[in-house]
Amino acid sequence: MYCPFCSEVETKVIDSRLVADGHQIRRRRECTVCHERFTTFESAELVIPSIIKRDGSREPFNEEKLRNGLLRALEKRPVSVDETEQSINRLKSELRATGEREVPSEMLGNLIMNGLKKLDKVAYVRFASVYRSFEDIKEFGEAIARLDDDE
Ligand SMILES: [Zn+2]
Repeated sequence: MYCPFCSEVETKVIDSRLVADGHQIRRRRECTVCHERFTTFESAELVIPSIIKRDGSREPFNEEKLRNGLLRALEKRPVSVDETEQSINRLKSELRATGEREVPSEMLGNLIMNGLKKLDKVAYVRFASVYRSFEDIKEFGEAIARLDDDE
């Protein structure tokens, strides 16, 4: 990048170190012309998109909320904490992989349900019944009936 003081193109790195537990590189630079020094930080862009809710408002992705929802659905089910955490990590990767800054809440809901379906079918139905607020009992029944079909 250009020198922020004189806009010279050539700057040299005089110090470079890992910060933020190795998730960032801090570089101390010096301008070859005006000799001013400045610092840059470099990190991978791993932003999780925000969620567009049905009413059009935006909300930051909330991992705690997701975890609590999953744990509630998985209550007393034979699923380990490790498996649950892996499922959360997979979902976060899927969200990042969209490359979007915002995604509709429906998409998040579908990702969660796909993840749960793989973890535990009873938990999936529990979650789906709350999350998708089934229009009527028939629709709910159909969703359950489909459970064994689409593997
Ligand atoms: Zn300069």
